[in-house]
Amino acid sequence: MNIILLGPPGAGKGTQAARLVEARGMVQLSTGDMLREAQASGTEMGKIVAEVMAKGQLVTDEIVIGLIREKLAQGGSGFIFDGFPRTLAQADALAALMEETGQSLHAAIELQVNDEILVDRIVGRAEQARAAGQPVRADDNAESLKTRLMAYYKQTSPLIGYYHAKGLLRGVDGLADIDTVEAQIAAILD
Ligand code: ADP
Repeated sequence: MNIILLGPPGAGKGTQAARLVEARGMVQLSTGDMLREAQASGTEMGKIVAEVMAKGQLVTDEIVIGLIREKLAQGGSGFIFDGFPRTLAQADALAALMEETGQSLHAAIELQVNDEILVDRIVGRAEQARAAGQPVRADDNAESLKTRLMAYYKQTSPLIGYYHAKGLLRGVDGLADIDTVEAQIAAILD
């Protein structure tokens, strides 16, 4: 079973993906994590994406589709797509890749939240990291967050209609506590 987690930055996609990995042995494919790894490894691609990410803009479709293609080529199933697709072109590319590898998508699960909570969660995440002496994500600041939210509404939210049209869209209340969201997702998967 392969699923997509959809929702704005701070909606809880990463948190729920981690729970699914733990509880069901699914495989999390987070393009954000892959891009941060590329950045940390100091490759040419890493340098290019670092600047784009820090501003809160989207990295090119070509780069992220390439990252996902590599992962899918390694085989396996039970994927949780976290932070991908983020544009309609990426969604079409994913559909093609899934077909090529003989796989299908079970659901696109939208974590429904509101903007106020997102700002609180992301500012909270940065403060927690700071207090724990951990690195704060370069894009977890008010300015980038504005750009990230705008990118979500302009470029990613059309995917809600796209997956609705494909009969794959499922909504969960992302404002509920973590365990409740997890249970709602479990109900969709079982
Ligand atoms: P969040 O959802 O909390 O903003 P992510 O870790 O998913 O965080 O992504 C961080 C940044 O990585 C994005 O703002 C964007 O610059 C880049 N990125 C991640 N996934 C994609 C994608 N599928 N397409 C384009 N850019 C992406």
